[in-house]
Amino acid sequence: MPNAALRRLLQGNARFVAENSESDETTQRRIAAARAQTPFATIFGCVDSRVSPELIFDQGIGDLFVIRTAGQVLDRAVLGSLEFGVAELNIPLLMVLGHTGCGAMKAAIQALDQHGEAPAEIEYLVEALAPAVEQARRLGGDLWSQTVRAQIGLAVDQLHRTPLLANAVATGSLKIVGACYDLETGQVQMIVP
Ligand SMILES: [Zn+2]
Repeated sequence: MPNAALRRLLQGNARFVAENSESDETTQRRIAAARAQTPFATIFGCVDSRVSPELIFDQGIGDLFVIRTAGQVLDRAVLGSLEFGVAELNIPLLMVLGHTGCGAMKAAIQALDQHGEAPAEIEYLVEALAPAVEQARRLGGDLWSQTVRAQIGLAVDQLHRTPLLANAVATGSLKIVGACYDLETGQVQMIVP
């Protein structure tokens, strides 16, 4: 079931790229979904206004369980929400979705370069993104895009280490993957399949 969910997502992204939308936002669909929700995938993505999961995966009301924070930074509320999707809604696929041109990564790189402190709780984000920036520096290449990739991988690893999710992965009822959305092409590329 996790693999079927992943196929469904990627097929939706292909329709989005081809401008061939099939997503259903009719009144009928809304009323049907009001009785109960059965989303087939969780998307843990960035707050960026250009990366709306329902749009880029061509999905409608009730299809996706979505959690978004700047730079896909994980905290306990996010983790609890992700676990809720698995434990209560039996969602078979969890995708960490980063994207090209992520402003949160850029801000973190700049703040760390300047050794300054970002204002208020933004500093919390910078600290949370620091390991991805460090990993990207070790990898070399374009620091910004490498940081995006590193953060996707680190988030997937972190989720695999949480007991409730790891248990669901072990029984085959859950798959955790990482992917990157390209702002220009609209394509979602698998990073951690
Ligand atoms: Zn972003």
